[in-house]
Amino acid sequence: MPNYFLENPDLVTTFDRVARWDQIVPLSEGKDADVPDTVSTWREVLSVAGEYIGSEVAKRARQVDELGVIRENGKVSLSEPLQANIRGLAELGLVGLSFPKEYGGSGLPFTVTAFVIEMLARACASTMIQNGIAYTAPAAMIYRDGDDEQRERYLPKLARGEISGAVAMTEPEAGSDVGNLSTTATHRDGCWFLDGRKQFISAGNGDFVIVLARAIPGSKGLEGLGLFVADRWIDDSGAPGPARESAAARENYQVERAEHKFTIRGSPTCSLVFEGTRAVPLGKIGEGWRGITRFMNESRIGVGIQGLGIAQAALAAAQDYAARRVQMDRPIREHPMIAEMLMEMETTVAGLRALVVEAAALQDAVMHGADESTTWRLRELTPLVKWYGSEEAVHTCRRALQIFGGYGVVTEYDVERHMRDALITPIYEGTSQIQSLMAVRDLMRSLLRKPQSLLSGGPSVTLANAKFDGEAGRDLAAARSSLVWTLRGLTTRLARKGGVGLLRGRRQPSDEEIAPFMLNAERITETLAHIHVARALGEQAKRVPERTPLFARAARRAKLVAQRNAKEIGDGDGGVFARIAEYERDRSAART
Ligand SMILES: Cc1cc2nc3c(=O)[nH]c(=O)nc-3n(C[C@H](O)[C@H](O)[C@H](O)COP(=O)(O)OP(=O)(O)OC[C@H]3O[C@@H](n4cnc5c(N)ncnc54)[C@H](O)[C@@H]3O)c2cc1C
Repeated sequence: MPNYFLENPDLVTTFDRVARWDQIVPLSEGKDADVPDTVSTWREVLSVAGEYIGSEVAKRARQVDELGVIRENGKVSLSEPLQANIRGLAELGLVGLSFPKEYGGSGLPFTVTAFVIEMLARACASTMIQNGIAYTAPAAMIYRDGDDEQRERYLPKLARGEISGAVAMTEPEAGSDVGNLSTTATHRDGCWFLDGRKQFISAGNGDFVIVLARAIPGSKGLEGLGLFVADRWIDDSGAPGPARESAAARENYQVERAEHKFTIRGSPTCSLVFEGTRAVPLGKIGEGWRGITRFMNESRIGVGIQGLGIAQAALAAAQDYAARRVQMDRPIREHPMIAEMLMEMETTVAGLRALVVEAAALQDAVMHGADESTTWRLRELTPLVKWYGSEEAVHTCRRALQIFGGYGVVTEYDVERHMRDALITPIYEGTSQIQSLMAVRDLMRSLLRKPQSLLSGGPSVTLANAKFDGEAGRDLAAARSSLVWTLRGLTTRLARKGGVGLLRGRRQPSDEEIAPFMLNAERITETLAHIHVARALGEQAKRVPERTPLFARAARRAKLVAQRNAKEIGDGDGGVFARIAEYERDRSAART
């Protein structure tokens, strides 16, 4: 039976030689903790997790996918094999791995749990998302924003896998535009009541849901929102908590349906209807956006790791198949195009893992009150982990499918499932376009604060300071120069349109002025992500010299991606703004 930790050399090297346990252990266990002793315990946890996930969870994955979500007598539930996975994880203490010890968890740092998330996603992407969104995410939110009574009530049961929750922000008319939500929370007779509808809620068929709602009447956009916990089952007096099957239980909100979908099929994606639903505030009224942003930032890294696990699964399957499948008298991996695809996939997976382990360590530092520059570095990496982890996972699965030829589309092999599962990652927790807008807005903010950075290494301090020797170092520097050259071109256009006052920070640019930046946000993000991946591998190669060839490949690729994007951006807008003007004219003509 494969052990997804011990039998993955890159993962083991990442744990043994890359992760900075000397910094992470004192944060998590206190400054007097014995580092080697703690690390050896964590390594043992990962070995046990790797064995269970690589054998039991992986074995059930195809069944989880085939059975999908169970819909019986108007009830939505998890399939038996997915329930078995969660039970098994709970028994090994893996559900509550990141929960604080005083609430029944193991209190492990995010850097350790990141390994488990990756292995789970490799085995079964539906189980990974169920574990993350039904247990870890609500527990983290309740621990952070809840009071003692809420923590006592929910956390130990979540850690044991006895109850499950969900997090609901999306609505039929409010997807990427969360501020457009219309679910309301009203205060009456000393209680809060929710009214509205939430859409696409993962694990929404559980025992409670954390809901983002408009709590201050008349407020607009991201102001005036609140987070609320609504229990699924209440008794006639409105008191929460009777067991779901008890005669006294009545539904506090309705699980209207679970979507039929081709990706993460085992995970129930539910529509929820709230009509006078009793709920209790989680944190301060009016600060809902702050709470949900923290959740989203953490779960964006989680989705990047999900992409990593799926890509690892596709890579392992393709490597194995390409060694066995013989065409034209040789294993197909000896045909140059296939050999190149395999190398590209390997570079992507190792590069993404390098980015993830760096982001996870920053996340641990931020959770323990790091300084502003660490917080900013995490903020810079988060959309890139999500973007690269999603888009490159899709690309890696697409390559694996191609390597399998006709067998790639046959359900007897797992690569078609990996392909389908990968396709959710660029969509949820903020689409790839939304990640790109976030990354580029922050880049612009730094740039407008310090335009002179364009005369040197560019607005990203981390990238500007990155220095490596040899050809790989030169490739990385060339990639960075292409990016800076592109930003300089876009900024010159901005200054020409808006005047130098804009660059001196005397006013914020208008939407029209920044439109060329926004049009190219995904190209800039792609370049940024590739440069950061190469940089992260370069840092690793300093400590693990065997990683030098990987670094060299990632740096070369970063250079080529940066040059392609620089060319595409430099060649202009391709008529897109003229087309938008036409759409706008059509829209106003339809109104009159
Ligand atoms: C399987 C699944 C599980 C989910 N789980 C949850 C969950 O647990 N909780 C929850 O609250 N939500 C959940 N979601 C919702 C998910 O986060 C949203 O689907 C996602 O945010 C996109 O919103 P939308 O589907 O309304 O698309 P839209 O926002 O309508 O976007 C449609 C397209 O337009 C693009 N777009 C939108 N605005 C812009 C812009 N300004 N610039 C450029 N492009 C833009 C998008 O990138 C996308 O390509 C889930 C969704 C799915 C499919």
